[in-house]
Amino acid sequence: MSLQLDRMEIEEEGRDDAVRLARAIHKQLGPLSGPVPVHDIALALDIVEIREEELDGFEAALITQPERDIGSIVVNLKSDRRRRRFSLGHELGHFLQADHVLNQPDGFLCSKRDMVEQDLNAARYEVEANRFAIELLAPPEMVRPALRGFPDLDKAQRLAERLDLSFVAAARRYAELHDESLAVIICRDSVVSYMARGPGFPFLLAGRGSRVPLPASTTDRLTSMELVDPRDWLAKPAGTELSLQTLHQRDGHSISLLHAVRETDE
Ligand SMILES: [Zn+2]
Repeated sequence: MSLQLDRMEIEEEGRDDAVRLARAIHKQLGPLSGPVPVHDIALALDIVEIREEELDGFEAALITQPERDIGSIVVNLKSDRRRRRFSLGHELGHFLQADHVLNQPDGFLCSKRDMVEQDLNAARYEVEANRFAIELLAPPEMVRPALRGFPDLDKAQRLAERLDLSFVAAARRYAELHDESLAVIICRDSVVSYMARGPGFPFLLAGRGSRVPLPASTTDRLTSMELVDPRDWLAKPAGTELSLQTLHQRDGHSISLLHAVRETDE
């Protein structure tokens, strides 16, 4: 039997808020034993068609009307499956948040960049659609078991497997929900392409496009968490102890986790 959800109740409880909407969906789904069935969820909420096509210049699209009776979603077949799951969640977010104004005559067209926007200066609807996607695909109760013990990228990697999320999305969520102050840095050839700070993590010195001192590369090997000089990383390094762990991937890509600990004042 296909999945049944009560859209009216979800929208009533969600009141156009990304977090509340995702929570209302999970309330109806109940506890899940595997990854969140985002495909079936979309189909149960008046998305009548989900197509996978090779797309150029954008990552996903939602075809709908301002009143959102029904919608169709297209996601980029050129991107890997986990990325497509996130894109699908993102477009479903635009569909369910009826206050999102269409950015095309017949819906929304979203780029790769749109899919990672988190900061408040970015387009608000994109930030909210991403918020919905991560809350839907990685709700706090499903992430919690990964948060025990010391921060470790290996745990984020296992979280990605368990929730069928991209490693970057899982690491970002891990940093966001962990009790410790964490940041995720994505680099190519030691140049920052993306960074996300968890709550309480101090301001970083480096921005997109700047070079950072990563440990020597050993492909597909996770380094251990090592103390680094906070002056290399933080805008205000005084009084903070900083550790870094890096996973070097193929073609110079890497993902790093920074862990900041405030030294207690005497
Ligand atoms: Zn979008």
